[in-house]
Amino acid sequence: MSRFFSRSFDQLEAYVPGEQPRDMKYVKLNTNESPFPPTEKVKEAAAQAAGNVNRYNDPECTVLRQKAAELYGVGVNNVVCVNGSDEALYLAFWAYRDETFAFPDITYGFYKVFCDSLGLEKKIIPLNENYEIDKNDYMNIGCNIVIANPNAQTGVALPKSDIEEIIRSNPDNIVIVDEAYIDFGGDSCVDLIDKYENLIVTQTFSKSRCLAGARIGFAIGCEALMADLNTLRYSMNPYNVNTITQMAAAAAIDDNDIYMAQCREIMEVREYTVEGLDELGFKTLPSSSNFIFTTCEGKDGTKIYLDLKERGVLVRHFDSPRMKEYIRVTIGSREQMEVFLETLKGVL
Ligand SMILES: *Cc1c(COP(=O)(O)O)cnc(C)c1O
Repeated sequence: MSRFFSRSFDQLEAYVPGEQPRDMKYVKLNTNESPFPPTEKVKEAAAQAAGNVNRYNDPECTVLRQKAAELYGVGVNNVVCVNGSDEALYLAFWAYRDETFAFPDITYGFYKVFCDSLGLEKKIIPLNENYEIDKNDYMNIGCNIVIANPNAQTGVALPKSDIEEIIRSNPDNIVIVDEAYIDFGGDSCVDLIDKYENLIVTQTFSKSRCLAGARIGFAIGCEALMADLNTLRYSMNPYNVNTITQMAAAAAIDDNDIYMAQCREIMEVREYTVEGLDELGFKTLPSSSNFIFTTCEGKDGTKIYLDLKERGVLVRHFDSPRMKEYIRVTIGSREQMEVFLETLKGVL
């Protein structure tokens, strides 16, 4: 840290992304990416758009926003395109910073980092003993709320009716529902945005549509909320979604059926993987995501992670008290999961 860095960041612990190692070829199951490459149409659209990058990109993302609005069944002014849904979350934490933000103890690590970097108060609410969100903990709590559904790290989904009750019971606060993993078995809240003026839903093409490295996400909500986010977006970086990404993402929406079929395949491979883990004595939380959170009684989670890594299989491990006995495993292709299970058997 230099001596010029703001004192207010003295204690800031930045987000630590999952490893992207270049040292050897791993079976990479640590950052919840898709194992599939983007479709041909997406690659062609990106290549074509590359020819126009001497010009600034369209800050309104007109073509993409129109298609995204159709995809989500909302109006064009109910969507803001962002540089990965992380950016949508950042804009929302920034926009509604007068109030405390509540979120679970085990969830996406960025919520805490955003609160800390923006100087917001946070209220951290433990998941119950089954690693579930208990809606009663969020009823009528009088602060902003952010919930990942399905939840990050656990993969567990909360019924939409529970989320709706939470939204309804906190009418004077913002509720953000982070749906990064919604396409793998959850029930989206997007169709509630007309009913609740305090709801923001975020989605991403990083997980279900093979565009993690292109950085594209969406905030979805009523027009007034989207106007708030746009005011801040135009106060920071109006050109947040580059031309290549805009065109690639628009093409991905044209190929939506292909991506949804891939999601169904991932869900099948997930069931296969969970069965394999059952046979090895693991207990896996019920996942509605493209990853699973699993543990084996009497085995050290850190050691399993390290032993797998040594054998070329990379999973994610979190060193906090309630998570250290678990490993988080992205669902890759069937072949990758066969290697994972076989390697795990060797490790045990
Ligand atoms: C991956 C992830 C995101 C971020 O997605 P990007 O669109 O790649 O920024 C947001 N929330 C959760 C819970 C995630 O797992």
